[in-house]
Amino acid sequence: MKNSLLSQRDLAVLWHPCTQMHDHETQPLIPIKSGHGVWLEDFEGNHYLDAISSWWVNLFGHANPIINAALKAQLDNLEHVIFAGFTHEAAIELAEKLVAITPAGLSRCFYADNGSAAVEVALKMSFHFWQNRGQSRKTKFITLENSYHGETLGALAVGDVALYKKTYAPLLMDVITAPSPDCYFRDEGESWADYSTRQFAHIERILQENANEVCAVIVEPLVQCAGGMRMYDAIYLKLLRATCDKYNVHLIADEIAVGFGRTGTLFACEQADISPDFLCLSKGLTGGYLPLSAVLTTNDIYAAFYDDYSKLTAFLHSHSYTGNALACRAALATLGIFETQNVLGNNQVLAATMKTLSQRFLNHPNVAEVRQTGMIVAIELVKNKRTREAYPWQERRGLQVYRYALSKGVLLRPLGNVIYFIPPYVITPEELALMFDVAWQAITA
Ligand SMILES: *Cc1c(COP(=O)(O)O)cnc(C)c1O
Repeated sequence: MKNSLLSQRDLAVLWHPCTQMHDHETQPLIPIKSGHGVWLEDFEGNHYLDAISSWWVNLFGHANPIINAALKAQLDNLEHVIFAGFTHEAAIELAEKLVAITPAGLSRCFYADNGSAAVEVALKMSFHFWQNRGQSRKTKFITLENSYHGETLGALAVGDVALYKKTYAPLLMDVITAPSPDCYFRDEGESWADYSTRQFAHIERILQENANEVCAVIVEPLVQCAGGMRMYDAIYLKLLRATCDKYNVHLIADEIAVGFGRTGTLFACEQADISPDFLCLSKGLTGGYLPLSAVLTTNDIYAAFYDDYSKLTAFLHSHSYTGNALACRAALATLGIFETQNVLGNNQVLAATMKTLSQRFLNHPNVAEVRQTGMIVAIELVKNKRTREAYPWQERRGLQVYRYALSKGVLLRPLGNVIYFIPPYVITPEELALMFDVAWQAITA
């Protein structure tokens, strides 16, 4: 009863993200009363296993006692303060930690308050760097096919998911889109590394031909998450780093979704042993508690902005909530868990369990591929296994899986025909088994 009452009040005044609100005439909205660990509870006592970490943000469970305690202590001292001309301990300590744990050479931290804003910051900084260095012809960005970098106009422009982008095309800056290294399209028997290397030839040629006009290449390292959890080999990043250096073009690594242990290493770039010129972080940064993002960059880039005020070279970008103290404190508590517990080692065990549990899907007549990178597993549903013909989007197969899984107490949120699992790191093997079992039933039903 309480559920439907809240739902009614919500639908009278609210407008939800990424939703055709009309769907809620038939699809109930689920009001959540509380969350503990991987479980969410509604107002009628139903429980839902959060298999997607509440849109990929939650790392150590809902109402995590360590993060809760850190936030409560911060709250009694300072909730927020203007971050121009002023500073505070949580922001300083977090920047020190981020500089220490991110790939070598990243020595400056600029805060923003969500992932899209971080991408905007990186794009503007890169462009502005070249302006300050007298290279005013550099105005373009290279992006990968099927990439996703957020929803604000700049971030949307460098993304390539038609569903989100197409309507707004007349408003977006021009970008150069390179074919993706996405290994779903590799030939039979071809390795991920071979396919990603083969695909690299395209962007190499694009860089060779356009470098004089290009500020930066932006990529999601290893996994194109919103593009359907499509994955590629680290060799591509290694080659890209070397070629960006060769042609004097920045590399922006958008680790907003894949950072903080999701792919098996603390940052995905580590698997290619590279340092980007800009590293964008958000989502898991605060353990899924509060909106915060950070852009890490190099001394060289920082130095191009550092001069007498009268030279007008400063980066004047700002957000009201830049460096919010509560958000920084949640991030510090989250990083503290990485320091005191063997998170990456434990994730290896969980990832191996996910691998075992996902094997049965390989033989399903409507599964074209089961792929995994660390704590991300994706199952690609198709109408025809042999030809890989996709289900028509109008059938909304993913939505059917979503509904079925919810009725069995598991929150899955497929991307089109791709069912994926990005669970919080505190999930148990039994809960993983439940998650895969319900997904199996959902597909079969
Ligand atoms: C989610 C996401 C973004 C955007 O972050 P928001 O906080 O939702 O604006 C950008 N890039 C990637 C790779 C993401 O997954």
